[in-house]
Amino acid sequence: MASTEWKTSACILCECNCGLKIQLGGDDGRRFTKLKGDREHPMSQGYACEKAHRLDFYQNNPERLTLPQRRRADGTYETVDWDTAISEVAARLAQVRDTHGGMSIFYYGGGGQGNHLPGAYAAATRRALGSRWRSSALAQEKTGEFWVSDRMLGAFTRSDFEHCEVGVFLGKNPWHSHSIPRARVTLKELSKDPARTLIVIDPRRTETAELADIHLQVKPGRDAWLVAAMAAVLVDEGLIDDAFIDAHTEGVEAVKEALSQVAIADYCAYAGVDEGLVRKAARRIGEAESVASFEDLGVQMNRHSTLVSYLHRMVWLLTGNIGKRGSQYIPTPLLSIAGGDTGRVSPVVGARIIGGMVPCNVIAEEILTEHPKRYRAMIVETANPAHSLADSKRFREALEALDTLVVIDVAMSETAKLADYVLPASTQYEKAEATFFNFEFPDNGFQLRPRLMSPPDGPLPEAEIHARLVEALGALSEADLAPLHEAAAKGRPHYAGAFFKHVMSQPRLAGLAPVILYRTLGPTLPVEVREGAVLWGLALRFAQKASASLARAGFKGPPPLQADTLFQALIDTPSGVVFARDLWDEVLGRIGKPDGRIQLELPDLLAELATLQDGVGGDGLATDPDFPFILAAGERRSFTANTIIRDPAWRKKGGSGALRVSTDDAASLGLRDGDAVRLTTRAGSAVVAVEVSTSMQQGHISLPNGFGVGFGGLDEASGIAPNELTSIDARDPFVGTPWHKHVPARLTPVSTRPAP
Ligand code: SF4
Repeated sequence: MASTEWKTSACILCECNCGLKIQLGGDDGRRFTKLKGDREHPMSQGYACEKAHRLDFYQNNPERLTLPQRRRADGTYETVDWDTAISEVAARLAQVRDTHGGMSIFYYGGGGQGNHLPGAYAAATRRALGSRWRSSALAQEKTGEFWVSDRMLGAFTRSDFEHCEVGVFLGKNPWHSHSIPRARVTLKELSKDPARTLIVIDPRRTETAELADIHLQVKPGRDAWLVAAMAAVLVDEGLIDDAFIDAHTEGVEAVKEALSQVAIADYCAYAGVDEGLVRKAARRIGEAESVASFEDLGVQMNRHSTLVSYLHRMVWLLTGNIGKRGSQYIPTPLLSIAGGDTGRVSPVVGARIIGGMVPCNVIAEEILTEHPKRYRAMIVETANPAHSLADSKRFREALEALDTLVVIDVAMSETAKLADYVLPASTQYEKAEATFFNFEFPDNGFQLRPRLMSPPDGPLPEAEIHARLVEALGALSEADLAPLHEAAAKGRPHYAGAFFKHVMSQPRLAGLAPVILYRTLGPTLPVEVREGAVLWGLALRFAQKASASLARAGFKGPPPLQADTLFQALIDTPSGVVFARDLWDEVLGRIGKPDGRIQLELPDLLAELATLQDGVGGDGLATDPDFPFILAAGERRSFTANTIIRDPAWRKKGGSGALRVSTDDAASLGLRDGDAVRLTTRAGSAVVAVEVSTSMQQGHISLPNGFGVGFGGLDEASGIAPNELTSIDARDPFVGTPWHKHVPARLTPVSTRPAP
């Protein structure tokens, strides 16, 4: 039966997490019958794109798991009750820990685009097991940017597109991939205003490029040459902000010297962009009052990805574009998900660990070996690495080689199908949820989304799963919790004192704090937000380091009081609250480098820059004549997302997941829309339908993300799973991020229609 009550929640399909109002209905009252943007959401302010309206396909997935699954010897699964599943999983993981050490238990995932609380609770399970190594999708996308940003600025930056005079998007199509609040509104405003300029650097004529004043249509994989040329123009034409450089940076002389070696005309020619247009763009950047610039997967999953991240920063730093309205800023997130190099390396192949994450492309190598420190067991939570990581075939082999694989998820994903145990989780609308993608400025918002409905019989929220695992591992007893239960009954001021006395002063318990909060503070909270208990601890930590930001947002008093007031506001305000209010003139004070000075000179990346000279030459895109095309795998389109919606019917259009091919290539191969073509890479081969597209340039082909998952009991998945075609060794030499946007490929028509 339909209800006319609008309930408050959010979209979970991209990092913006736009606030939503949802009406429930259907026979069981669990269907999403109406959805609209939530005007009270502090960041999205009523905005939502077309994808959000199809979220019922996520919530009402007919194939969701309801009870724990245990793998039989023949590879089939049997249902077991929760007590059996938890005790057996705990025993299996404890055995791996006791035999090989907790470091041999690897954790992957912890959250997707809309759900980061599972990762917070998993920290307790990992502590109970002594598990140290972990990773997530961030380590195949963002760790190059994190590494460079940390080395140059000691901080992670974001950009103010709402107020910039010039907006630059590098390898990004925010029309579909968003990442900034109200992306399409902001893009249109930027595009329409004659006093402002939108610059897009992309090999495709994307929807954003269509709006741009300047589209630098770089040849695929040659962004490094183009961005090097842009930075060199700044030096060549005297466009550097010398006053800013003198006041706030170190190492400019080495950078100027390196950029003066760049053969601008040759680099532009090799990048496939008219030198005059490159100079025009660089000049516009150099002369603007403010420039906001955003790089994304088009360059971060491409050749020279880390070098491009460095050169990109150089462009806006040399022109003084940080710390002023409309430029770059250092946000105040509730919990930082970015991080730098701690000096640690992975235990088998010695890969650099950025932000605490093992590079995704080395995980299989760290399992498929006889090395004594190899990973022997894995917990995969709210993630599907058998589908989402490079070279799926190799990754499946790795997962099958583990002693124990435990998957926590809502559905029988490609990864779950390889697990020893699958623990069914509540959907994101059956428990409280939140994300730590909070990067806005000067006002930054956070939403603790209350659950819209209780879970059906069977699935459990991840908080409950981790609490049971920690207890089954013997790490936490009722005696540990008793003082906190007593204090919680007297109110949160009493609870705070007891928490510090009994938990934070005891290292054994401090690492289990998330689960302790869930078990003791959680029952005192409204049931709709119970899984938000961990945020009380995070709010306390936040208040200690960002008291001034909190105070400006209206949360006054000493940090413990600020934290508690913020926590209560999150509970009371389902649309979310502004939790930090910042000042532009404080940004440069957040530079986390010696003397607060930005480090422009990174010798290893300047050495990499020098090698570009050797690569200049030739017109062909491909370096291997057997693979004359460059495949960009994982394009965001109108109805693509990650694989959390498994039913292909959710796509209102683009349901075949067609391969986009340029008009020139289609003509030379005799292809028209809908024709089938065999797409072959070094890693695999697949037959796919073609879409002839004017957005593509010759030699460049593109597959969407989110396809290739099984549904409806069919063996054949819908569309192509991109990682059946990618290679594990095609990765950045510094941080191991994969080159999914630069996969050498060839096309062979398998059928064409007769000419009319
Ligand atoms: S997919 Fe669209 S509605 Fe959903 S969070 Fe992203 S921008 Fe918002």
